[in-house]
Amino acid sequence: MRSTASILHLDLDAFFASVEQRDKPSLRGKPVVVGGVGARGVVSTASYEARKFGVRSAMSSAEARARCPHAAFLGGRFDAYREASGIVMARLRELSPVVQPLSLDEAFVDLAAGDDFDPERVEELVEELRADVTRRTHGLTASVGVASSKLMAKIASEINKPDGAFIVQPGTEADVLGPMQVTAIPGVGPATTERLRRLGVATVEDLRRFTADDLGAHVGPTTATSLYRLARADDDRPVEASRETKSISVEDTFETNLVDRVQLTAIAEQMARRVAQRLRANGLSGRTVTLKVRYHDFETHTRSTTLTGPTDHGGVLAATARRLLDAEDLGGGLRLLGVGVSGLADWVQDDLFSEPEPEEDLVPLPSRDERARRRGWSPGQDVTHTEHGDGWVWGSGLGLVTVRFETRESPSGPVKTFPADDPALSARASVSSVEP
Ligand SMILES: [Mg+2]
Repeated sequence: MRSTASILHLDLDAFFASVEQRDKPSLRGKPVVVGGVGARGVVSTASYEARKFGVRSAMSSAEARARCPHAAFLGGRFDAYREASGIVMARLRELSPVVQPLSLDEAFVDLAAGDDFDPERVEELVEELRADVTRRTHGLTASVGVASSKLMAKIASEINKPDGAFIVQPGTEADVLGPMQVTAIPGVGPATTERLRRLGVATVEDLRRFTADDLGAHVGPTTATSLYRLARADDDRPVEASRETKSISVEDTFETNLVDRVQLTAIAEQMARRVAQRLRANGLSGRTVTLKVRYHDFETHTRSTTLTGPTDHGGVLAATARRLLDAEDLGGGLRLLGVGVSGLADWVQDDLFSEPEPEEDLVPLPSRDERARRRGWSPGQDVTHTEHGDGWVWGSGLGLVTVRFETRESPSGPVKTFPADDPALSARASVSSVEP
């Protein structure tokens, strides 16, 4: 472990929901839930206002609606998220060339690899960074942790979250970590937590009473070894600028093309549960869930979604796999199905929870507007009206669409309802140009 606090972890606060509140003035200070809006949708991010009602990421959207019926439920605008992420990652690269993004809203930075890093000025560096992020993204806030290891930097960024920072002074790592719940250790998922609870382990200090061998009997040798070390804040993993994609997947080729959606859904769920078992057996958890399908004509698609937090939970993975399959057109049937989870989220992943887009290579691509019209308006989507100007879809159904006319710079705006096929209304790009 290094002797200076020179690994920085930055995590944007309630990222997707914050981008929505930034761009939709009427939602500021209100509960907002971003995620799958369909019957089987899963929450991706909840604003802090929604979290007060018990809404959490990876919860089913149905449960979130039951807990917080007055929240705004939005389908997500990946272009806008990617733009904000690009701005933040570029700012981090000004600190050091060694930046390891974990997802759109989270990254490690090896400050010591930067040109003029001064360990005496970490506090100033952090406050300048956080202020710049907020200014350049037009109001998003970030939480930052700095420590001598990745483990402690990540934990430190949670301590004063949201909109805060914590610097772990070298030498104090074990003291900072000791009183925390074992779930503070990244990778300790629900299954491991439950097994540890049965051993009477709640905090990291409790964990330190056990030898690695003792733990191994309960959580498996691999998990035990890493738990033993991490409980003592012993972590020398380097910040890796190039992502190493670790993934666990299960796939199956069928003897005959399968066309029955119910049967395929059952298979996908079963595969997801097998992936979860393998994750747990290896002491891993992952955030990006990928579904792979091969059609009768050998055309192969993969479709992924990134959860806001890592999971090794069979139920969550099964629900996510099911949702991904729901979005696939089964056409003439499938000859192969696979489900995988990667430990490091692919942060340049395409739009994750929108409705399926038509295949682009064979059919001429319909305009954004036409695609939106074909699939119906999506809640939260950016639109423009020839008479009323720019706004966003507040809700739709029964042949009608309701739009709130406001933008990032405007005050809270009025709501108007139109026929869903009103030619005066069209979809609008979320960002005019995407920053590198
Ligand atoms: Mg975040």
